Amino acid sequence: MTDGSFLANAEGLRQAADALLNPRPSEAALTLPSALPETGLGESEALERLAPIVIGQARRLGAPEAFAHMDPPTPWIAWAATLWTAALNQNLLHPDTAPVARDLEVRVVDWLAPLFGMDGGHMVPGSTIANLTALWAAREVAGAEIVITSEAAHLSVGKSAHILGMECVKLPLDARGGLAADALPKDLSKAVLVLTAGTTSAGVIEDLSLAARAAWTHVDAAWAGPLRLSPRYAGRLDGVERADSVAVSAHKWLFQPKESGLILFRDSAAAQQAISFGGAYLAVPNVGVLGSHGAIAVPLLATLLAWGRAGMAARIERCMAAAEDLWEFLSGHPGVEVFEPQDSGVVLWRPRGAESVDPVLQRLAPGLASKTQVAGWDWIRQVAANPNVDVKIVSASIGLALAAGLSDAGQEGT
Ligand SMILES: *Cc1c(COP(=O)(O)O)cnc(C)c1O
Repeated sequence: MTDGSFLANAEGLRQAADALLNPRPSEAALTLPSALPETGLGESEALERLAPIVIGQARRLGAPEAFAHMDPPTPWIAWAATLWTAALNQNLLHPDTAPVARDLEVRVVDWLAPLFGMDGGHMVPGSTIANLTALWAAREVAGAEIVITSEAAHLSVGKSAHILGMECVKLPLDARGGLAADALPKDLSKAVLVLTAGTTSAGVIEDLSLAARAAWTHVDAAWAGPLRLSPRYAGRLDGVERADSVAVSAHKWLFQPKESGLILFRDSAAAQQAISFGGAYLAVPNVGVLGSHGAIAVPLLATLLAWGRAGMAARIERCMAAAEDLWEFLSGHPGVEVFEPQDSGVVLWRPRGAESVDPVLQRLAPGLASKTQVAGWDWIRQVAANPNVDVKIVSASIGLALAAGLSDAGQEGT
């Protein structure tokens, strides 16, 4: 007898979609068994129990006030394509089980790589793995022994160097908050230079004209890379085409479900060959860090097919406009100090003269802002990852939080 759990169940899928379409907010505590249940509830009951928790208690990344992190809402076309890929479960490790999924990944990489001057690459679960893959290729292809980057590099750069047994040197920042070019060693013949396009804390795009001076240059464009799709902002990453490799997180500014990212190479044949392994049960060599690898390209391909380059750029530009509007509001506020530059939709500010940003931050709705440290100061950080953010709502809440914070400070003073 066929086990119906493995067949498409229209009623069950409708129940799941309905829970998503009509989310019921829930304050209910986690009411799940603490130990592995011996007998199952059945699919329908499991969905019924989980919906109020999984959906009801989730943060809404597309809410009008969501402006805190590099985590975007995802478009419904990506939900639909993800449902397909979960149902089909293609494994790109085996051409046999993934006859078209492999080609679809090649196609989406071919669409995106030229924007960065790269000729190919592969998809990875995010830029942490992309950075690791890049440094590995740099070691194998260019004989790089040391990683040189800036203080603003993402932690995954140091982590990757550690895994690979490479020394990691972090150079100081210039006044703009990017790698200080005059601190670069003269001899970079044994070095992989990692430049960041969109630093995690402040969104600073480092000087990419520094590319091509080292044995290998890797650009960590996890956050700001997608600006290359926008004619208006693409120039901010000029110089990236001279890098040897580029990391981009598709689950950030390409609005993809996690975990989706790209590692791109200028000479992908040489780079990928150097990080490939064969095996008795493999029909084709296994490229890069991952073993089994799903069809994460399909939601990205579906989104790009639905929107085109222009549609994707329009969403990113809407995020940039939101950041610019917020920046304008903040820089016109007498009680606020704002961080410059404004490179990639990350806005940092602090109540002027305040010792701590916490009292103001605590008055802001969860998901409206986060906190970071730059140049020895705490800053309130806002990231324009949500094309549906409403800056009027955000600035009104900030105005109220500041007024309350200022009056507290006044009381303390008297
Ligand atoms: C987010 C980020 C990373 C890590 O990427 P994941 O996709 O989270 O693994 C690396 N570098 C920068 C600059 C980032 O912003």
